[in-house]
Amino acid sequence: MKISLIPIYEDNYVFHFITDDGLSVVVDPGDGQPVIDYLETNGHSLQVILHTHHHWDHINGDDALREKYNCEIWGPEFEIMRIPNMDVLLEDGQNYTLGSHSFKVIHTPGHTRGHICLYFEKDNVLFSGDTMFSLGCGRLFEGTPDDMWNSLKTLRNLPDDTIVYCAHEYTATNAKFWKSIESNHPEVDDILEKIKSQKCTVPTKLSFEKAYNPFLRADDPKLKQALGMVDETEEKVFAHIRHLKDNF
Ligand SMILES: [Zn+2]
Repeated sequence: MKISLIPIYEDNYVFHFITDDGLSVVVDPGDGQPVIDYLETNGHSLQVILHTHHHWDHINGDDALREKYNCEIWGPEFEIMRIPNMDVLLEDGQNYTLGSHSFKVIHTPGHTRGHICLYFEKDNVLFSGDTMFSLGCGRLFEGTPDDMWNSLKTLRNLPDDTIVYCAHEYTATNAKFWKSIESNHPEVDDILEKIKSQKCTVPTKLSFEKAYNPFLRADDPKLKQALGMVDETEEKVFAHIRHLKDNF
């Protein structure tokens, strides 16, 4: 599955792909015109919009795209009241077919109550929306730290070679934050330098996130030690890391 990135606003990514049998799909089109420009430039139409959650910077392109292409809108069932005009309500744990591809819906509350991630198992692809970023995770607008920690642990259980398409380019700031809480990590400086030299760090690999993303490592003894929280529960450690990032 060849996935293209369409940058919008300051740091959002919309994703586009074509299924083997020719369906054209975008994920989280937070703006219409840049997506239309991309599709026209590349000679594509649009059949399906997929959504991870209801925030404006993920859905604001829907009206313009629907008007132009008469495409379907698929999104999380728990956000039916907040994403207009959905044709298909995506349920947690269910599998859906998109032409020659299929994906599983993983409910990941924390950033929003109804947030979902879309896992294309055969393609090794995860669209993680605003739940997991490279070296980071989404802010807790509608959930508790426990909600988000459980969501991230669910994602952490996916295979190492999963390719993660997250919806924002926040990696450079996330890497700086990581260094601020675990400056003694032997690889943090090298990774920080490498990221600084890259304009685009998406997609990322889940193996990389499992190894380094502090928000996936609240139960890692080394990180706990760096934080002076060796005897604390993973839930408390996660909440502390999230709190530190909110004030970073
Ligand atoms: Zn969001």
